[in-house]
Amino acid sequence: MINLYGQEIKKLEKLMLDEGQKAYRATQLYTWIYEKHATSFDEMSDISLRFREVLNEKYTLDLPKIFKKQVSSDGTIKLLLELQDGAKVETVLMRYSYGNVACVSSQVGCNMACAFCASGLFKKQRNLEVEEMVGEILVLNNLLREESLEKHITHVVVMGTGEPFDNYDNVMDFVRIINHPKALAIGARHITVSTCGIVDKIKKYSEEGLQINLAISLHAPNNQIRNKLMKINKAYPLEVLIPAVKEYEQKANRRVTFEYILIKGVNDSIENADELSKLIKGCMAYVNLIPYNPVMENEFQRSSDKAVHAFLDRLIKNGVTATIRKEFGSDIDAACGQLRAKSEK
Ligand code: SAH
Repeated sequence: MINLYGQEIKKLEKLMLDEGQKAYRATQLYTWIYEKHATSFDEMSDISLRFREVLNEKYTLDLPKIFKKQVSSDGTIKLLLELQDGAKVETVLMRYSYGNVACVSSQVGCNMACAFCASGLFKKQRNLEVEEMVGEILVLNNLLREESLEKHITHVVVMGTGEPFDNYDNVMDFVRIINHPKALAIGARHITVSTCGIVDKIKKYSEEGLQINLAISLHAPNNQIRNKLMKINKAYPLEVLIPAVKEYEQKANRRVTFEYILIKGVNDSIENADELSKLIKGCMAYVNLIPYNPVMENEFQRSSDKAVHAFLDRLIKNGVTATIRKEFGSDIDAACGQLRAKSEK
């Protein structure tokens, strides 16, 4: 069975042609499922009965099931979704003043094994399929529509469990679908993909000609600290990563975001801020500081508010554009680095 939510428009057009249909059937199907929210092929009144039968035989509109729903005091919703094969992933809805942001998982578990992150405690079981990632958004959209008919996801960050660039092709199809005007029409500049720094994929991404935002999990101002925190740095150390970022910025004419978690006594000193400023000199990038969220299984601690602000001030004084990331849903373990399939344990 082919899940319709997994079909990027060109691929769906090809499928329709293979079925002996006209290519425009693809757009027609998009309109039914994404605009009119059809949940069965039988509703699709302008498609012939005969072809609806074919669709029923070969295609599905299955969505992930909500296994558990938690609502934070700040309105953040965290869902534990159950997929077709029983695997479970988390997805988060954050309510910013500018819109509703979905934080999407890209894999079941993660193999990157960053020392500070809860998601990496569970080895990767598999990549998420395109329809499963699209499904994360659609399930959140269904919840939002229950609140009000106008509400929907306006921004997407691929920052949940998993390394998106370790599931590159599926993630690219996913962003193309949610960006498509006849599908979810989420603007490219409202979509952000975050990577721990898989350089060959950053290079590939530079060639895609997409206007999607790219974020890099940097977290350290030098190799010595980054090697301790992130295994990926052994494969792609900073002297390889930073030039690749600059190359991307030039090719795509887009600035990247560097994510930098602040961990007490590890990477949060004023010297570290100076070193970081030097490291990213010549990048158009801006730095998003994330005060560390404690994870039960390790010893790392969050930097004090004072240290966070001193770090920020120093970056700004050095001419670096930087902000502190607003925190959502920490009371339900929905904040950065806290995602995992907890109730599975
Ligand atoms: N694998 C991708 C996507 C995950 S994004 C990546 O590494 O970019 C999730 C972000 O939260 C990453 O920047 C990650 O490093 C950060 N993070 C992980 N654990 C964290 C924690 N305990 N507190 C705050 N941020 C954390």
